[in-house]
Amino acid sequence: MTPQLIDPFQRAVTYLRVSVTDRCDFRCVYCMSENMTFLPKAELLTLEELDRMCSAFIGLGVEKLRITGGEPLVRKGIMTFFDAMSRHLDSGALKELTLTTNGSQLERYAADLYAAGVRRVNVSLDTLDDEKFARITRWGRLPQVLRGIDAAQAAGLRVKINVVALKDFNEDELFRIAEWCAERDMDLTFIEVMPMGDLGNEDRVGQYWSLADVRAELAGRYTLTDLAERTGGPARYVRLEETGQKIGFITPLSHNFCESCNRVRMTCTGQLYLCLGQEDMADLRAPLRISEDDSALIEAIHKAIGLKPKGHDFDYSRQQADGQVSRHMSHTGG
Ligand code: SAM
Ligand code: SF4
Repeated sequence: MTPQLIDPFQRAVTYLRVSVTDRCDFRCVYCMSENMTFLPKAELLTLEELDRMCSAFIGLGVEKLRITGGEPLVRKGIMTFFDAMSRHLDSGALKELTLTTNGSQLERYAADLYAAGVRRVNVSLDTLDDEKFARITRWGRLPQVLRGIDAAQAAGLRVKINVVALKDFNEDELFRIAEWCAERDMDLTFIEVMPMGDLGNEDRVGQYWSLADVRAELAGRYTLTDLAERTGGPARYVRLEETGQKIGFITPLSHNFCESCNRVRMTCTGQLYLCLGQEDMADLRAPLRISEDDSALIEAIHKAIGLKPKGHDFDYSRQQADGQVSRHMSHTGG
């Protein structure tokens, strides 16, 4: 299908990330505070509304859908939604249906996800040490996640591990994590930690570890080859020649990819964020709820895409002075 969502800078929007819940069964220190207040249920898009919303985007040329959260797999009835989306894979309109998860529920859902047409999952995992895992996620338990990863691979899903790079936390595990991923034939991506509001962390985990340093450390042990691969997002990839594996580096607020940015993000309340680094957003819930017919929604989507900023390096004044983006990642889904 020809993309219909072309922004003012002639970029086609073909990738939608959708947060289906703000809730989570973990409390990662860099993402949430221990005592979170979650949205009342009426604020959230229902599963049927999520279906309408995503289907409208797919009708407008979106080819890739990533489901995220909060933790997408704790949303009640979420498999109904995945099952419903598989019709767009069957029709060929949707090329990829995928999700980012903390892995806690994968043991239960991996086979169903595969049956719905999901072929790849991103699992966020910052450490392979039980005690450190409990500390960074507060509520998570590592063995449960490892069983989830086993289940995902057994079901035929390709797994990519996302690691938030944290100084004095997982610095010492760099090679161990890389080798573990290589042994299991999983891709690996490092994410630079973003300062996300005041999360009340007295424990001093969550400190910035530059990905340039992560890369330099890897280069000290392995031969790194830069890959030309671009996904329209903030990731850069290398191959480790010794293991053959692909490693990605995501610097979320870097702006060297803005000119090829192909994505928008929707919150679980139907707000469409046009750029991760800026506050520009449009409410799509009101036009969705106004009628059962999608015309108001489609008009609102077109209007929103018309607001997509050129990039987040062009107007830093719109961010808070210290470079923080006030919303949490669990709100926009990362
Ligand atoms: N719960 C799922 C998970 O953890 O994969 C999906 C949502 S989570 C918000 C998406 C990604 O954002 C995760 O990989 C997480 O590590 C990352 N993330 C959360 N807060 C972050 C922060 N402050 N800086 C960088 N990455 C962050
Ligand atoms: Fe939950 Fe994911 Fe945030 Fe951790 S990063 S608290 S798993 S939403």
